[in-house]
Amino acid sequence: MQRDEQIFELIEAERERQTDGIELIASENFTSPQVMEACGSVLTNKYAEGYPGKRYYGGCEVVDEVETIAIDRAKTLFGAAYANVQPHSGSQANTAVFHACIKPGDTILGFDLSHGGHLTHGSPVNFSGRLYNPTFYGVKKDTGLIDYEMLSDVAEKEKPKLIIAGASAYSRDIDFAKFREVADNVGAILLADISHPSGLIAKGILNDPMPHCHVVTTTTHKTLRGPRGGLIMMGENIDNPFGLKLKNGNLRKMSGLLDSGIFPGNQGGPLMHTIAAKAIAFGECLTDDFLHYMLQVKANADAMAKAFVAKDYNLISGGTDNHMMLIDLRNKDITGKAAEQALVKADITVNKNMVPFDTESPFITSGIRVGTPAITTRGLKEDDMAYVVDLIDEVLTNHENETVLKAVAEKVNKLMSGRPLFNG
Ligand code: PLP
Repeated sequence: MQRDEQIFELIEAERERQTDGIELIASENFTSPQVMEACGSVLTNKYAEGYPGKRYYGGCEVVDEVETIAIDRAKTLFGAAYANVQPHSGSQANTAVFHACIKPGDTILGFDLSHGGHLTHGSPVNFSGRLYNPTFYGVKKDTGLIDYEMLSDVAEKEKPKLIIAGASAYSRDIDFAKFREVADNVGAILLADISHPSGLIAKGILNDPMPHCHVVTTTTHKTLRGPRGGLIMMGENIDNPFGLKLKNGNLRKMSGLLDSGIFPGNQGGPLMHTIAAKAIAFGECLTDDFLHYMLQVKANADAMAKAFVAKDYNLISGGTDNHMMLIDLRNKDITGKAAEQALVKADITVNKNMVPFDTESPFITSGIRVGTPAITTRGLKEDDMAYVVDLIDEVLTNHENETVLKAVAEKVNKLMSGRPLFNG
């Protein structure tokens, strides 16, 4: 078979783009070589519908072992009593939980997308807003912090069956105990979607949802630094959504519902190559090296936030507790879209993002979201953050000046040269 040079040349071009640039998309990261090796392995050839020991295909003895290791490592990493490592993505993990826990037409209460929530938390353009009746909480205008009073008021009024705690663009820690109080008051199931900060949570740097939330979902490719995918978990000793203790046989009952929410509920064959890569990534996350990495991600985000504030950038909530920040650019006279485009020309990648109470459309936006997981994997430290912010500021204040953008790109390439994608 002839090698497909057309595609391999494009893969090489993408490798160069990733290597030369400063990657600040908060949801991206660079996986280790062994995670990528597993993704490209013969496990991609195997069908394995079902779960370890209960498959609908023969020849699953080896992949059964792989999946069991992935499950065990996920449970150890998060202190969970149950884990399902099969979701192809974070969205599919959430879909499965909805399938398992509520019925179409039921009311759900999620974080408003324009305030930092995710599409799967009730957006009208997503299954979650189309099949269910979505209601929302948001942040306070003056502080940019989650409005827990609003959360409680909307819950009392709308009586949701499911409440979702979690976000795609929220830079502060989340009070899961408070969410649980609100959920208990109205008899709702509480789902924590920790897709973004899961690496920080796994290492004890942020509040732990496991003791408070009925179900926890996460992606595996953001701060966890694994392959693209999803994960569903439940903690020990949590009252399950049917008012039963998860201890004893009831855990099995609830986990059966979640398992069938994934297969056969919304997926067919699991991606065994990805599950092997998840197992490797979870193993990496269990090390002290990963703890140091996560502490560095947070230290870098904090240093970067302070450097932005020093240059009069308006950070939602004024700073960050985690790996990211959301910047309102309205005082800088540039939209999120124009900022994203100019930064790309300077080899700096961010994403435009709605800010709370935005006056622009989701295609234009007034803000950008910036995160430090990927540049920390490249080896940048706190001392580099002020310089990165200087480069961003130079681009944003000269965003129509192609000469400046080119000059900044050269500085970016110099800063990143000699740094492998994965510096672990
Ligand atoms: N949940 C949250 C909070 C997210 O931020 C994301 C992705 O950005 C997802 C779910 C969905 O993950 P995926 O893109 O893997 O479907």
